[in-house]
Parts: sequence; structure tokens; C-alpha cells
Amino acid sequence: MAGNKTFTMIKPDAVADGNTGAIIKMIEEAGFRIVAMKKTRLTEERAGQFYEVHKERGFYQDLVRYMSSGAIVPMILEKENAVADFRKLIGATNPANAEEGTIRKKFAKSIEANAIHGSDSDENAEIEGNFFFSRVEKF
Ligand code: ATP
Ligand code: MG
Repeated sequence: MAGNKTFTMIKPDAVADGNTGAIIKMIEEAGFRIVAMKKTRLTEERAGQFYEVHKERGFYQDLVRYMSSGAIVPMILEKENAVADFRKLIGATNPANAEEGTIRKKFAKSIEANAIHGSDSDENAEIEGNFFFSRVEKF
């Protein structure tokens, strides 16, 4: 059965451009509840750990530099079918291929600076949420 939680982070380009609020509005309007949220910044080492699955890829060094270049806003989100529905809301990795009405279509600048992350499985949502939040308050 699909889980009801996913993990996201608003990436440095979108935070620096002042799009945090507009992106959170789209997330809430799509029916996601914010379970945990903060503003923080990754060191290169931590960004490298987060994207370790991509370490053999040609874009890895650039990705690590970009993801540690400024503030980010990580969040744990809750909704039925959260992982798949959220991937749909953010749109394709490359904004050139992202559908109308998606967050990346609206805010991403390039395949790298693509405004937002979304977990790709329930298992990774759990791992990534724990990467940023050691304790989640119950509201
Ligand atoms: P994310 O994991 O951030 O939600 P994604 O699952 O859509 O994105 P991945 O294939 O996991 O895409 O790639 C992780 C991130 O690495 C992308 O979001 C993007 O920032 C960067 N990236 C992916 N492919 C490329 C590429 N070809 N060139 C440059 N950067 C890339
Ligand atoms: Mg991914």
C-alpha cells in the first residue's frame, strides 16, 4: 500500500528568488499538510551525502555545489498517496518537459536548478525526512 508521507525541499535557486511562499502555497492548495519544515543550508559534504546515489553521474559535483550554494527549505508532507501525487505536482526533472501547472514548470530555471526536490519512494521519503528532522512534533 502506498504511504501517506513524502519529503521535499525547496532548492537554493527558488529560495534565493523569493519563491518559497508561492511554492508552499501550491503545495498546500494541492492538499498536502506540512508535518515538519525549516530553513537551513547544506554543507558540500552533507549535500554530497544526500545525493550519494548520483555520485557516479557526470553532474554530481555541480549538483553538490549548487545544493550547498544557499538556503533550502526541507519539509515532511502528508497526504494520501503522497509520493506519487507530489512527483506529479512538481513535474519533470527538466523544466522543458514539465507540464503546465507544475511547480517546476513555473519556477525551475534549468535541469539542475529545478526549484524543488521530491522523494521517489516511500522508503526514500523516510530516509530523507530523517536526514533533516531528528524529531517530528505531533500537531
Ligand atoms: P530530485 O531527486 O531532486 O527530486 P529528480 O528525482 O527529478 O530530482 P534525479 O534524477 O533524482 O531527478 O536528479 C537529482 C537532481 O540532480 C535533479 O533534480 C537535478 O537538480 C540534478 N540533475 C539531474 N539530472 C541532471 C543533469 N543531466 N544535469 C544537471 N543536473 C541534473
Ligand atoms: Mg530524485
